[in-house]
Amino acid sequence: MNLILLGPPGAGKGTQAKRLVESRGMIQLSTGDMLRDARRSETPLGAQVAAIMDAGGLVTDEIVIDLIEEKLTAAGGGGFIFDGFPRTLAQADALDALLGRLGQTLDAVVEMRVDDEALVDRIAGRFTCRDCGEMYHDTTRPPLIPGKCDVCGSDDLYRRPDDNADSLRTRLLEYYKKTSPLIGYYHAKGLLSPLDGMEDIATVARGIDAVLDSAAS
Ligand code: AMP
Repeated sequence: MNLILLGPPGAGKGTQAKRLVESRGMIQLSTGDMLRDARRSETPLGAQVAAIMDAGGLVTDEIVIDLIEEKLTAAGGGGFIFDGFPRTLAQADALDALLGRLGQTLDAVVEMRVDDEALVDRIAGRFTCRDCGEMYHDTTRPPLIPGKCDVCGSDDLYRRPDDNADSLRTRLLEYYKKTSPLIGYYHAKGLLSPLDGMEDIATVARGIDAVLDSAAS
């Protein structure tokens, strides 16, 4: 079962992907995480994309397609959750071709719909544990002990440099201009399931489970 989580920044794609990794043993493929890893390990690729990411722009299709190709080929089997990929029609076409080459299919695309004002609130308050990836929010999910991760005890909690008002404006524009055409693209393929991403995490999770179960049957 291969799934795309589609939605604007702050829609909850990463949160839901992590849950599916735990509950179903699926493999999360987040191009945002891959690019952040490249930056942290100070690779030439990381240096090349840093300014674009911080400003909220999209890095080139070639770069993200290469990253995904490498991971898909290395993983071999299926059970992928594409989180933050594809973000353009060119990426969607490339993904089709890649999956085809591996004898895999795309089974479902869940579109997570969230109001713009809610996205701003969610992103402005969010931070993450650098060690285990657990996600927090200043008001809706603060850690039990301030500054300490509930899950792994690390005190390395950080805010993404692109989670600020200016970058977010650019990221939303990029989403509406370049990524939202994918909604029609996957609808035409009969793969699209829109979900109300304004609901709480557990309700959205149940919606995604229902989509996966019906795609499997
Ligand atoms: P994310 O963690 O998905 O919000 O991605 C963070 C940033 O990484 C984005 O704002 C882009 O600069 C870059 N990025 C991640 N995925 C892609 C993609 N599929 N295509 C282009 N740029 C991407």
